[in-house]
Amino acid sequence: MNNPILGIDLGTTHSSVAIVDAGFPLVLADQEGHRLTPSVVHYPTTGETPLVGRKAQRMRVQAPSRTIYDIKRFMGRSASDLSDREWEVDYELSRTMGEPLKVLLGDRTLRPEEVSATILAQLKRIAEQSMECSLERAVITVPAYFNDSQRQATLEAGRMAGLTVERILNEPTAAALSYGLNRLKENAKVAVYDLGGGTFDITILEMFEGVFRVLATHGNTQLGGRDLDQRIVDYCIQQCASSALREAIKSHPECMAKIRAAAEEAKITLSQQTEATIEIPFLYQEEHFSCHFDRDTLERLSQPLIEKTRAHCLRAMHDAKLESQDLDQVILVGGQTRMPLIKQKVAEFFACSDFEENRGDIRIGQSFHEQEGPALHTGEHPDEAIALGAAIQGGILSGTLNHLTLLDVTPLSLGLETFGGLMNVLIPRNSTIPTKAGEVFTTAVANQREMLIHVLQGERERAADNWSLGRFVVPFESAPRGVARVGVQFAIDANGILKVLARNLKDGTEQTLEIQSAIDVEDQQVSQMVESSVENALDDMESRRWIEQKLKAQQLLQAVDCSLEACGTSVDGNMVEFIELKVREVKQTLARENPETQKGDIARLKASMKELDEATQALAAMLLDEVASKLLE
Ligand code: AMP
Repeated sequence: MNNPILGIDLGTTHSSVAIVDAGFPLVLADQEGHRLTPSVVHYPTTGETPLVGRKAQRMRVQAPSRTIYDIKRFMGRSASDLSDREWEVDYELSRTMGEPLKVLLGDRTLRPEEVSATILAQLKRIAEQSMECSLERAVITVPAYFNDSQRQATLEAGRMAGLTVERILNEPTAAALSYGLNRLKENAKVAVYDLGGGTFDITILEMFEGVFRVLATHGNTQLGGRDLDQRIVDYCIQQCASSALREAIKSHPECMAKIRAAAEEAKITLSQQTEATIEIPFLYQEEHFSCHFDRDTLERLSQPLIEKTRAHCLRAMHDAKLESQDLDQVILVGGQTRMPLIKQKVAEFFACSDFEENRGDIRIGQSFHEQEGPALHTGEHPDEAIALGAAIQGGILSGTLNHLTLLDVTPLSLGLETFGGLMNVLIPRNSTIPTKAGEVFTTAVANQREMLIHVLQGERERAADNWSLGRFVVPFESAPRGVARVGVQFAIDANGILKVLARNLKDGTEQTLEIQSAIDVEDQQVSQMVESSVENALDDMESRRWIEQKLKAQQLLQAVDCSLEACGTSVDGNMVEFIELKVREVKQTLARENPETQKGDIARLKASMKELDEATQALAAMLLDEVASKLLE
């Protein structure tokens, strides 16, 4: 590999390391498979090698004064900079005013850079073990609001860890890179909403001469998922069955730590489920703790936290002199943004046009063709976005990612053939990649046993006039019309590869299709397709209207057929004859369709359908009576 550069997210609560490997940015896992390392270092009294990450985290209750967390908040700062609340940590800090802050460990002092260097050295080790080579170069991220001395301290920590720091990168810029937004147009504006475990930042970026510049940044270094955990802990304590247990929890740090861990776990569970049980056997001596917790309660407890972030968003937008509609994209970063309510609220704050709740991988509802507000990006792993972005910056610096400067938008629309041979667009032309869209489809006729997923590209209304990119069939069990449901998702990654995923929503079975060339289309072919769609716009629209009307007519014919069969001989012969006459008229109008242009006489079809509908009114009433009398029997 060509001298790769690591991307490091040195976070307040968690850190992670990523690399561009064979053209793909990926977050590296430690030997136990964890991709996030708690930013915690424990210094044993015996002077042995410090413990880092999970092992150190476990020591927080046992040896709080020698277990250092949140060190990022003290980087490059002096005692006089700190607010009263910022002193509230479980370990000791030197309080000599005007001097850089230090951690006091018995008779030893540590500079925050040294603690951070230990975390960075651990991340370097994780990367080297995973890649099986030695790695020295790195891009390290810092919050956009970090001043020069905080940046210098980060640089120094990198050097102490044996790294050559190629660049100190703003976290929101890294996040934007990870979503492929470096290929946005000039002056495009992006809001990065970053809610982690201990801190909140909102940053407004503008693309200027090919790089992002910060227009405004706001935040709170004391606001994050941890505050929410605390509220859940308070709620749990209120729910305690006995006042003795309540008091025991308050006075025993180990009990408190157990409750805190269980509260966080329940919070995470409720991002996927609507109910959770918090259960801690033998929390204190023989006493167990058990409490039911649901998403509504969690959301109620989250309101104050969300409102605080909203106030910061308003300030940042005000400082940047922007309104929501001036933004092009909103990105969510930080583990706490996995919470569904946060996604929903951020979409509301910024009046995002295309937010829909992600249920599994499939978005329920329509794809978004018109875009008024900014697009909301919610990645699968919002807590990994910064490290990935840093790795991408590293890839650009080391030259391993040059080939990635492909087209940045979809040159033509991508969609599916729907019943009747029409094109249903999921990703419209000119959508910035990477992008995702999905829709749920259902069966158009009864007892349909399969659904054809035919992937199309182009701008024409009829499937046959577009290009076919691939097809596959989703089977399902026989069911009445409209019962079987298939969710289809299109996802185009930064390399222009289209992944089509179809999931049978009843049994969860999935099928996927990967199309390599969804973006790679010759300019000439693109212009031909666009020109032909403009030239044929009126004709195409007429075909679409005819096909849609034809489908309705076919459904009506089927319903009439079933009704006649159900009422059998009890219907008056004249009535049957009259209905059959009207059925023939509808069928004749359908038969006059021009098969090549797929057009017919829409007005006549509508009129004959209306007549058939009227002719069957009495039949429908009879059917209803029959059902009612059966019910009364
Ligand atoms: P970060 O600092 O970005 O690593 O974010 C850590 C915070 O995200 C912690 O407060 C976690 O409890 C929270 N978090 C992680 N995963 C989830 C999830 N699935 N749902 C809600 N919160 C989460």
